[in-house]
This record gives sequence, structure tokens and C-alpha cells, in this order.
Amino acid sequence: MARPAGRGRRGAAVNPSWCGRCGAALLPEGDHFICEAGHRTFLNSKPAAGALVLRDGQLLLVRRAIEPWKGWWDIPGGFLKDGEHPCAGALREVEEETGYICEAVELLGIYMDTYEYGGDSVFILNIYYLVRIIGGEPRLDAESDALRWFPLNALPEVAFVHARQVLRDFVEQQAPGARPRKDLQGQQR
Ligand SMILES: [Zn+2]
Repeated sequence: MARPAGRGRRGAAVNPSWCGRCGAALLPEGDHFICEAGHRTFLNSKPAAGALVLRDGQLLLVRRAIEPWKGWWDIPGGFLKDGEHPCAGALREVEEETGYICEAVELLGIYMDTYEYGGDSVFILNIYYLVRIIGGEPRLDAESDALRWFPLNALPEVAFVHARQVLRDFVEQQAPGARPRKDLQGQQR
């Protein structure tokens, strides 16, 4: 259950040294990098999507069998593929990680964080959906070693700092009498 060593460093993305198109050295130029041939390289937060699977008042979490955050309960989700819509990515990830085929109910919010692995740290932009199961059977993939349903009032501490805020916001939103969110407060973390 070791936390990644770099956890807590903010904005520690490694600057690129070489142009990905021609291999020449990159130099910083304004908000990007440029090589002698004029190819520009921009750094952006990596997009990821996650799914809160709710059924009968319980939330489905997966236990991570891989680093980072190995051994911690986690919201199903992962990095988006090139060009993939975040909603499609969230549904793909939840099916890969849990076996359940789901449909999206609602966009919950967008949360920033960092992802540390192998000594690197990159910003991640995480987009969360509330989803419901429409088919499939529970199963595990190689990246997780357990699935479990948790009541909303007994959620464990989960992997990734931002994901704890996701769950706090979601529990608050689900509470009886909670007002529907009408602004973007809480989604700008
Ligand atoms: Zn170049």
C-alpha cells in the first residue's frame, strides 16, 4: 500500500528535450518548445475519465493491483485514447475493469491532479460520469484484484488525492435534500 514517492509534487512535468518529429534539440519558446526546424511541442495535462457506478445506493470500486497506488481502492477509469470522447472512455474503462456494460447518466465534474509513476509526474485532467449498469457480468482484469460495492456512508479512502474530493462531492450531491448543482463550483479543482 505504498504511496507513490512523488505524491504531492505539483507541476513536475519533465520538459521534453528532443523534437518528436525530427529529433533535433528543443528550446523553450513562450508557452511551448521549438526545434531548429520550427516544429512546436506543447505540454498539456493528460486526459482521463472515470465512472461512478451506482446501484441500489452502493458504489462499485476496484482495488488496484498495479502501481501507482497499488492496493488502494479506486474509481474505475483510466487514460483516454487519442481522439476518444471522455464519456466513451469512461464506459470502456469500466467495462474493461469490472465487466459491467454501462450507460452514462450524468457528467459529474472535472478534477485536476498529478500522476506519479517511474519518477515522472504529469498533470492529469480527470472527467467523471455517473453511470448505471445495463449488462455484463462482474470480472477482473489484470490491473485490479478485487471488486466491491460500498455504501455511500462507508466509502474507503481511495487512490489519487482528487478522487477523494470526487467521492465527497458525489456523496454530498446524493444526500437527501441536496440542491442540484447550478454552477461549476466544485468542478474547478
Ligand atoms: Zn523538429
